[in-house]
Amino acid sequence: MSFVVHVLGSGSRGNSLLLETSQTRILIDAGFSGRQIERRLGDLDIQPDTLSALLITHEHRDHTQGMGVIARRWSLPVYIARATAASCSALLNGQEEVRFYRAGQPVDFGDLRVEPFLTCHDAIDPLAITVRQRSSGLKVGIATDLGTPTVSVRHALRRCDLLILEANHDEIMLRNGPYPWSVKSRIAGRHGHLSNRAAAQLAIELLHPGLAGVVLAHLSQECNDPELALESVGDALRSKRFGGFLQVALQDEPLAGIDVQALAAAVSSPQLGLFG
Ligand SMILES: [Zn+2]
Ligand SMILES: [Zn+2]
Repeated sequence: MSFVVHVLGSGSRGNSLLLETSQTRILIDAGFSGRQIERRLGDLDIQPDTLSALLITHEHRDHTQGMGVIARRWSLPVYIARATAASCSALLNGQEEVRFYRAGQPVDFGDLRVEPFLTCHDAIDPLAITVRQRSSGLKVGIATDLGTPTVSVRHALRRCDLLILEANHDEIMLRNGPYPWSVKSRIAGRHGHLSNRAAAQLAIELLHPGLAGVVLAHLSQECNDPELALESVGDALRSKRFGGFLQVALQDEPLAGIDVQALAAAVSSPQLGLFG
């Protein structure tokens, strides 16, 4: 009944994540080259031909770059919103097995139930997902590229055991950073990306006694720093007595696999006194 999350890499230059149980392995996004994804899976000793599916959240290149290549090379079904697929025609040549999915329609892979929901982001049909392991009830929320955490986003992400949450930029670094004004206002806008401060606020709102871990993801290379992101969100969570796992996902290398069951067991163990 294991349930492990491997962040292969996350940041403004590429995102991909693997969910693994004894019954299935699914890849969420393919924002690196096919070769890079294969190398990162290799680092985890995972054979690509053991994957069950690739799910795409939206058409931006940092989520789709290797999509077509790996779908063809590994005969991997691609789950994608219809409009997103249409806007990715340069990456798909018709030889892939494409299956449409959309917000509000759960899809099952082995013992995992994926529930896609709409986000507020400047893509054609942007989705984030929660994934529940049906046998254990454990729930993981994966939400990056969140311009605004709308009511429905917050509703979808409630009562997660593990949250993978965007902490894209530090507001001061963005203001003083190298981008032109138009890019800065896009990133900070309602359809852009979550700042560390907004991520901290959202994390507090989503905090509940069962929240066992938070992984900060999709950090900007230019306008954020892992230490800053950890400090912003960590201070906010600790002020509400969160004592769970907190980690930053990296752009250039996979994180060690996160065993959701072990994390959840640690917070529910009374002798640890994580929530007094
Ligand atoms: Zn992105
Ligand atoms: Zn995006």
